[in-house]
Amino acid sequence: MRVGILGGGQLGWMTILEGRKLGFEFFVLDPDPKSPASKISDRWFPPDRVEEFIKTCDVITYEFEHIHQEVLEKVYDFTTPSLNVLETKRSRIREKEFYRKRGYPTADFTIASWKDLREKIEDFGLPCVVKSESLGYDGKGQYRVYYLEDVEDILKNHTEGEKFLIERFVDFSFEFSLIGVRDQKGNSKLYPLTVNHHEGGILLYNQTRSFSIKEAEEIVLSLMEDLDLVGLLAVEFFYTWDGKVLINEFAPRPHNTGHYSLDACYTSQFENLLRAICGLPLGSTRLKLPSGMVNILGLSLEDMDLSSLLSFEGAKLYWYGKDKKTKRKMGHINMTASTEQELEERIEKIVNLLYSHEPS
Ligand code: AMP
Repeated sequence: MRVGILGGGQLGWMTILEGRKLGFEFFVLDPDPKSPASKISDRWFPPDRVEEFIKTCDVITYEFEHIHQEVLEKVYDFTTPSLNVLETKRSRIREKEFYRKRGYPTADFTIASWKDLREKIEDFGLPCVVKSESLGYDGKGQYRVYYLEDVEDILKNHTEGEKFLIERFVDFSFEFSLIGVRDQKGNSKLYPLTVNHHEGGILLYNQTRSFSIKEAEEIVLSLMEDLDLVGLLAVEFFYTWDGKVLINEFAPRPHNTGHYSLDACYTSQFENLLRAICGLPLGSTRLKLPSGMVNILGLSLEDMDLSSLLSFEGAKLYWYGKDKKTKRKMGHINMTASTEQELEERIEKIVNLLYSHEPS
């Protein structure tokens, strides 16, 4: 099978690592030949050779949401999951309107333009979270607004003509995510949920828990059907103090909160993506051991005490080989343990070893 991946980041890199075991070939379209997935692909294609890329591949998927418009138009009919799904996702406003229209639970929201942002926030009420319509991930283009004066800074960072989502600030007890996978025949499976800990809008670590949340499971299964999705769907949720489940956002691709599945599930999220899009039976998503993951943000290999980090039983390092930048996801450490308590202790130690100070 000749698999094409749009985007050369770490998600593509891990998809290739997993797909090699199945004997697949991989082709990556990305502007950067040195991106993690480009480097280990069978062949790298720059965006201006998209036609040749399409002809080379039996199936094309994406690991990146912000695909350039020109490429998007050319690959539109050839990707799995379908790019229709991504269209909903590429605008935070369209995504939220989709939830509202279909009756999925999500934080209350309204929409504003650059010009009427202040007025709309005043009507909506404070505190709230303002999110730019597009190009937002890892907390980018996102602002917590406590006072009306905060609006000035948002306006300075953006330009006239941009649109914004104004969202009710959710006072959550915890955040969790659930990843589902659906094949071409409509069979689906769910991974165990993970509880996620963000710092400054970026995932720092997450872990599996022994409980499940039926309502969220039903939402993910139903969303996959509604979107007629073939592939992976990761859904991030808030669990409020009064026991409500609210969708924050979805991603129709492998997800950072599913990296633990490489070492702790019978079939990783990456292998199941490949199985789903290539017409193979889905593999078991069952968890073998309590598991978690710690992101390595803005550190180089030299900044880390590898000997100590890898001395924990069950610790596995994944290093993406990217140039160091502040807060950039450089790699992650997967962790398994015999009990949830042992897992929590190990994750805490790893976080402390990596970041004796704030993540840089
Ligand atoms: P996002 O960029 O939408 O994935 O948001 C990143 C993180 O910001 C989330 O995981 C939450 O921790 C936080 N966040 C986003 N939206 C809200 C909200 N409406 N209320 C409270 N926290 C939020």
